[in-house]
Amino acid sequence: MFIQDQTAISPPEFSDSIGELCELLYRRFSEGRDVSSFVVLADEHTALLCLPLLLEHWKFPEPPLLIQQPAGEGGKDWANASKLLVRLSQLGVDRSSVLIALGGGVTTDLGGFLASVYMRGIRFVLLPTSLLAMVDASIGSKSGLDVGGAKNLAGLFCRPELIGIWPGFLKTLPESEVQQGVAEMLKHALIASKAHWESLSVAKQKVMSEFLKAGPDALAWIRESARIKHEIVLADPLEHGRRALLNFGHTVGHAVESAFMEASKPIGHGQAVLFGMRVELILAESLTGFDRGREVDAVLSDWSEPLDLGSISIDRLLHWMRFDKKRLRGSLKFSLPVNIGEAISGVECSELELRSALERLW
Ligand code: NAD
Repeated sequence: MFIQDQTAISPPEFSDSIGELCELLYRRFSEGRDVSSFVVLADEHTALLCLPLLLEHWKFPEPPLLIQQPAGEGGKDWANASKLLVRLSQLGVDRSSVLIALGGGVTTDLGGFLASVYMRGIRFVLLPTSLLAMVDASIGSKSGLDVGGAKNLAGLFCRPELIGIWPGFLKTLPESEVQQGVAEMLKHALIASKAHWESLSVAKQKVMSEFLKAGPDALAWIRESARIKHEIVLADPLEHGRRALLNFGHTVGHAVESAFMEASKPIGHGQAVLFGMRVELILAESLTGFDRGREVDAVLSDWSEPLDLGSISIDRLLHWMRFDKKRLRGSLKFSLPVNIGEAISGVECSELELRSALERLW
């Protein structure tokens, strides 16, 4: 539901098995006594690969309704959200229903939004299935839609009844999607935990294989990143201060994502953020005195895919950054690391400095 008071943002709850996750759902909703229906929102991949696992252990007497949509960022488009609100009504979803968003960050962002505005708010659950959604998108009560090509231009702060994480879903996640999640985890480490950074910046193949088999190290890394994100949003739920630290890499990253979307060749959020962090690290060297740039950049580049810039210009990127909600009185504000595991927000930067940092990686 949509909420003004964010003082009690709940942490995500971890399950060791899909059976345990379903049991958690069953108990959280009083064995279904006060629920008229459950409706699962999934995309084509999670409907195929994750939903059957959920249904196999589903404990409520009635199976859930299903809304399935094509995979990809297009799901967060305003027009699609409007269509899905009509679909919810056609399915007879009412104020006692519960929406379950089963998927990556697109599905959890969209699900949170739909549940918060449908009939002025119904209860909802987030069951993140991508690494990025487990460590980032599902935590912190933000939902978002893309409008006119601008990322997350519309959205609400809203509170799920439950964020249930079962890392076993990762076993079907493609490697390229693991990369998207690792990008955000590296960000969490850089802004808040040197130990987490050291633990994650080991050989890429080791980290990748650990996630793909949802091994014990993967679980520990996910818990730590989720803890960092939750701790930051709990301290500053409505982003008046500390929460802005999470924007490291995102001022540039969101502009990159929007520019690629505009050029009809969308790229993953994590890839955009990796690029954004690399540019913003260059800014940090001159603006905060961060002096580990070379070593950190080596790890970030290792996880980055080369971006096919084609016709996308730095000017277009700057255009999208001007669009950025964080822009203030003619200067852009950045959250930048000071040391590994420590960052500050509100660092002003001129367009000239930014353009010169972009040129070094363009
Ligand atoms: P996504 O939801 O598109 O998922 C990525 C791909 O992985 C999709 O094709 C999906 O179908 C597939 N997938 C997901 N789980 C799977 C599984 N277990 N097995 C196989 N395939 C699976 O994208 P994402 O990278 O998870 O999230 C990106 C979105 O999250 C962006 O829209 C971004 O703005 C948003 N986000 C929101 C917040 C927030 O605080 N609300 C934070 C970070 C990112």
